[in-house]
Amino acid sequence: MKILVINCGSSSIKFKLFEMPEENLISYGSVEKIGEEISIFKYFGKVNIVKEMKINNHEQGIELIANTLLENEIKNIEEIKGIGHRVVHGGERFTGSIKIEEEVIKEIEQHSFLAPLHNPHNLAGIKGCMKLFPHTVQVASFDTAFHTTMPKISYLYAIPYSFYEKYKIRKYGFHGTSHRYVARRTAEIMGKGKYDINVITCHLGNGCSITAVKNGKSYDTSMGLTPLEGLIMGTRSGDIDPGVILYCLEGLNLKPSEISEILNKKSGLYGISEISNDFRNLLPLYGKNEKVTLAIDMFCYRLKKYIGSYMAVLGKVDAIVFTGGIGENVPLVREKSLENLEIFGVIIDKDKNKEIVGKEGEISKEESNIKIFVIPTNEELRIAFDTYQIVRESIPEK
Ligand code: AMP
Repeated sequence: MKILVINCGSSSIKFKLFEMPEENLISYGSVEKIGEEISIFKYFGKVNIVKEMKINNHEQGIELIANTLLENEIKNIEEIKGIGHRVVHGGERFTGSIKIEEEVIKEIEQHSFLAPLHNPHNLAGIKGCMKLFPHTVQVASFDTAFHTTMPKISYLYAIPYSFYEKYKIRKYGFHGTSHRYVARRTAEIMGKGKYDINVITCHLGNGCSITAVKNGKSYDTSMGLTPLEGLIMGTRSGDIDPGVILYCLEGLNLKPSEISEILNKKSGLYGISEISNDFRNLLPLYGKNEKVTLAIDMFCYRLKKYIGSYMAVLGKVDAIVFTGGIGENVPLVREKSLENLEIFGVIIDKDKNKEIVGKEGEISKEESNIKIFVIPTNEELRIAFDTYQIVRESIPEK
């Protein structure tokens, strides 16, 4: 059964076409710089295409993807039985992936105020697909869903309770599909049941978050009401004293939009290094450039603080897992964030750590009480799997 997975950002669409349940990737690609003078279309399947063209909006982008699939991989549109959409914010309502009906669209719209930078674009993709694939089952998979198991003591902010009751201000957490995927994979690797494991999952990519997974369920996570809270990221500050924001407003007379731009786009690795948000550009300068070195050291220090606090929260930890572009590819971050934790039963094998780059592997020493793994994330495959199951439920087998 062919399942398409769509991930719409503000100016991009990423897609992957799978044959399920075999989990075979048939083709994948992206449309980038949507709405700009020149957009870029990339397609990798039976043919490989990289070309510049003008794509005005998400619907046009999806049409281009659909036509390219028709020309190369499928005979007709109906061959695609399900489309899984990544949706960033599902609020408290959506605890798992769900078939998209009118009422679901309305609820995603209602949650847009919680994720104004993401949900409207996710919706544009959903609406475009519903138009172009009218007979295909559409499924929404929420970044927040995995974290809906968090207890109140971890998700409430210590501000007046009425702010939660009236405005739903609380921690929601993100990257849930990735944290869930690597937590389940860890259970498989360790030969444990999926609800029989405590893991600390570190998703370190463009955005970074860490989750304390207790008995297979999210118990606490570093991102909050928005993806700004928690770890230091490429361009986001992560945790910051809210007083800094008040001072920027009242002391420096900055506008809310300017502060948002600073905290979301100009901070993090980029803000401190003053060079780049990308580890590929920063690593060659580590130890040579003072601000680059400081940025990376701060990144690892913040990560280590969270790992330590989640070890305390969980008590018994089976494994610490690294995933995402940085987690999978940067041994330096793994080594620095776990150094001197031997007393807590975390012993990294420095040689194995250097070997495991961009692939799955164990990087802890034999005698380490807590196992350490690198597990490449595969959010799209997880979404494809959920979509496949929902399609099967909605089309009874003859
Ligand atoms: P993601 O959002 O998971 O795709 O991660 C993107 C980030 O991962 C980039 O901004 C880089 O900082 C980092 N990254 C990806 N690939 C590599 C690599 N081969 N070496 C070092 N850093 C990488």
